[in-house]
Amino acid sequence: MNKINGNTRICGVFGNPVEHTMSPAIHNFLAERTGQNLVYVPFHVERGHLSEAVKGTHAMNILGINVTVPFKTEVMDSLCEIDSMAKKIGAVNTLVPIQGGFKGYNTDMQGLYKAMCEDQVKISDEKVLILGAGGVARAVAILLAEKNAKEIIIINRTEEKAKNLAEEVNAFYPNVHIRALALSDIASLYGNEKYLAIQATNIGMYPNIDDAVVMEESFYQHIHTGYDLVFNPLDTKFMQLVQQNKGRGFNGLKMLVYQGILSYEMWTGCAISDALAKEAYSFVLQYAKENG
Ligand code: NAP
Repeated sequence: MNKINGNTRICGVFGNPVEHTMSPAIHNFLAERTGQNLVYVPFHVERGHLSEAVKGTHAMNILGINVTVPFKTEVMDSLCEIDSMAKKIGAVNTLVPIQGGFKGYNTDMQGLYKAMCEDQVKISDEKVLILGAGGVARAVAILLAEKNAKEIIIINRTEEKAKNLAEEVNAFYPNVHIRALALSDIASLYGNEKYLAIQATNIGMYPNIDDAVVMEESFYQHIHTGYDLVFNPLDTKFMQLVQQNKGRGFNGLKMLVYQGILSYEMWTGCAISDALAKEAYSFVLQYAKENG
């Protein structure tokens, strides 16, 4: 831990609950390694008090704030500026102080892209399934559209939400082939195709570690790569099912680390090298194994 003195700056994350966040591990590691005099702490913000929390942190000259569940969309009402990509995604996870308040950004999308690149998971010209149509699925859908996926199929328990998301993405990217499918109709996909599947529901998260959004083995015979955004546990049931059917399986920890690195770079102006990013990932992986 850095020595705290009169020049120490504070960063943190707003959430509710926030007690299990791994973000302090990421940012405090980076602060120590880049020699920045800052500490990163969790802030448990009560529902209904978000705008007061945003105003208060700006008044206190806080260096930067991350925003997590359930505030990523709601926080947009309390900002004086929003980055255009964050507007498209409809969610903000990073607040950067500017004159008079904060500007909001979304580093989830870019964090996922960096993680996928490092794991050598290709998007362009791929047929991709998104499982889920909640907050993070929006960032995934925009990323896939931006990076020229050949076809995007959004699969969700509540089909209406998948349809709405597909329509919204299509409005931004009219040439992208995107459609919605009800989770209950998933067997209609089983032809000769093989897909990249991005798991963006919260199913399989601790303590429900034996659950996966789809349990039928036949689904996984059509998945060449499964990218689970869940990272607790590190070895999810979804990943296990993908791997048992000879696919490549990944969890969401690398995405978490990269979205954090991108926020850190914005707040401090430090450029985190690839080598340090890899060290940060190893550190957080070890932390997750010990504290997960
Ligand atoms: P969210 O907005 O609450 O969306 C949840 C999604 O899960 C919805 O599509 C919902 O379907 C689906 N779902 C929930 N329970 C279900 C069930 N029993 N059966 C079928 N579908 C179910 O959550 P989110 O913010 O998008 O987050 C989703 C996951 O992504 C979480 O596990 C989160 O930890 C992870 N995540 C990871 C990172 C990272 O850095 N790795 C970043 C952000 C999020 P309905 O629409 O039908 O309710």
